Amino acid sequence: MPKKRRLLWQLYPSYLLITLISLLAVTWYASKSLRHFFLEQTASDLEARAHLVEKQILKHLNPLDEKDVDLLCKTIGTRASTRITIILPSGKVIGDSQEDPARMDNHADRPEFMRALTGPSGTSSRYSRTLKKNMMYVGIPIKKNSHTLAVVRTSIPVNAIDVALKNIQIKIAVAGLIIALFAAVLSLIVSRRITRPIEEIKKGAESFARGDFECRLPVSNSEEIGGLSEAMKKMALQLHERINTIIRQRNEIEAVLSSMVEGVIAVDMEERVISMNRAAAHMFGCNPSEAQGRSIQEVVRNTVLQQFVTNALSSQEPVEKDIVLASDGEQFLNGHGTVLQDADGKQIGALIVLNDVTRIRELEKIRRDFVANVSHEIKTPITAIKGFVETLRDGAVKNIDDAERFLTIIEKHVDRLEAIIEDLLTLSRIEQEAKREEVVLAEGRIKDVIESAIQVCEVSAVAKKIGIELSCPDDMVTKMDAPLLEQAFTNLLGNAIKYSDEGGVVRVAATQTDNEIIITVRDQGCGIEKKHLPRLFERFYRVDKARSRQLGGTGLGLAIVKHITQAHGGNVAVESQPGKGSTFSVHLPRTPCSDHALT
Ligand code: ADP
Repeated sequence: MPKKRRLLWQLYPSYLLITLISLLAVTWYASKSLRHFFLEQTASDLEARAHLVEKQILKHLNPLDEKDVDLLCKTIGTRASTRITIILPSGKVIGDSQEDPARMDNHADRPEFMRALTGPSGTSSRYSRTLKKNMMYVGIPIKKNSHTLAVVRTSIPVNAIDVALKNIQIKIAVAGLIIALFAAVLSLIVSRRITRPIEEIKKGAESFARGDFECRLPVSNSEEIGGLSEAMKKMALQLHERINTIIRQRNEIEAVLSSMVEGVIAVDMEERVISMNRAAAHMFGCNPSEAQGRSIQEVVRNTVLQQFVTNALSSQEPVEKDIVLASDGEQFLNGHGTVLQDADGKQIGALIVLNDVTRIRELEKIRRDFVANVSHEIKTPITAIKGFVETLRDGAVKNIDDAERFLTIIEKHVDRLEAIIEDLLTLSRIEQEAKREEVVLAEGRIKDVIESAIQVCEVSAVAKKIGIELSCPDDMVTKMDAPLLEQAFTNLLGNAIKYSDEGGVVRVAATQTDNEIIITVRDQGCGIEKKHLPRLFERFYRVDKARSRQLGGTGLGLAIVKHITQAHGGNVAVESQPGKGSTFSVHLPRTPCSDHALT
């Protein structure tokens, strides 16, 4: 691209050139006209002088007296500072103010002489061989009775005119130069006046391009520049409004995208990230601002997602896929990919929406495990019952002792089934009530509930010679569902008795802080290894399955406790040391709230 010149340097030289050409033309024409005028003047002056001498010469021509003519020429010529020559029609010079006529050659061929013979006068400017200088000659005929007697020729050197003309030309040139200088300065001022507002408009346009719309444009009297200024102002205003609208819309979209819990990734046809919201960046552990413009392979190091993006770009139909992230525990994402189109419906990329379905998947797994556990728990007693029934039918019924023994075993398994079903029903009821917010909490005394639970467990405690100690202030009250809470304490006390050795002590104590009431059930039993503690409150989780079954446990007791405390807005915790005993503590809020999700 050729280098662009400033408008000033395009306008100014043109102005200057036009001015100089005009000046030169005027100077040339003026000096030509002056020279012409001077020559005309000189010619008529010479003609007038010739007419002046005409009469005096005539006297000496008829009769012809050459000496007198010559003398007269010399006398008048000296006085008039003019060369006067008298030439006979034959061309012979008979008098000359500056030369001896005898030495002068025939003048018949001189143009002024020839014209004078035929017309009223003849003029000629040429080099005089006699005087060796440029001369102007004017000849007029001296007539008598329309008969030409001679031609009187007056002449002066032309270089006098040339010198005078040169002087005038020098003056004109000096004046022209001064005018040219003035014109140059004026042209510069005029050019600047034209270009300055254009330059200011250019600067304004550059400011607009930078996003600075506060810049003021010049106010001009010129219709074109004023109009341009106005048009630019309008354009800037509209541009400003549109940019503001775009920024506002972008901010709104960004706010919507970043508030979404779903991950959103938009990619172009080359799989470069157009936009990625905070949730998506968080899922893949990257920075959303750095992701923009980079390829999805660079940004997200997950081959399943990369493949999913490629599929979404190549497929015209929406696509769906589950993506597992295993960076920090397992995270399950459900991805939906659709084609991203511009306003004209042309595909410009793909939009990926990612839902974190980890919780749903976990719940599904819990349910699957639960069904498997329930089936497994129920299958064992049913298989046993079926086996013994078949044995009885095969003849064992006839042996009273065997029949009695087998029926006792069957009864034990039926009790076990009943206990499992009862616990499952209790669990499901608490879950349902909590979900539907049907757990009705009424103010009640903690001590009453614990005492009822101790009463329920008394028989088994006495059987194992285990003492139960209670320490609870009489006035400790909280909002509660008394039967449910009693069930929870019964389970905890039952476990404490079950897993304690004979002759032990179980201590139940209730204390309170500003926010909560804490009821602890402490035993001196076998205790629990640390690795089991995090899973202890899961359904069917048992440390020692055989022992639990032998003791008539269902594996659901602590899960029920957990759900009951949660339904009261509290929680349950455990501390234990193998061989030394366990402490279960139920934390209930002093201002209970039943709005808790149960798992
Ligand atoms: P279970 O019906 O088997 O007792 P729970 O849900 O009540 O089921 O308890 C789960 C497991 O926690 C028990 O199998 C047992 O191993 C352990 N456990 C519960 N309470 C105690 C305790 N006080 N001392 C030692 N182990 C306990």
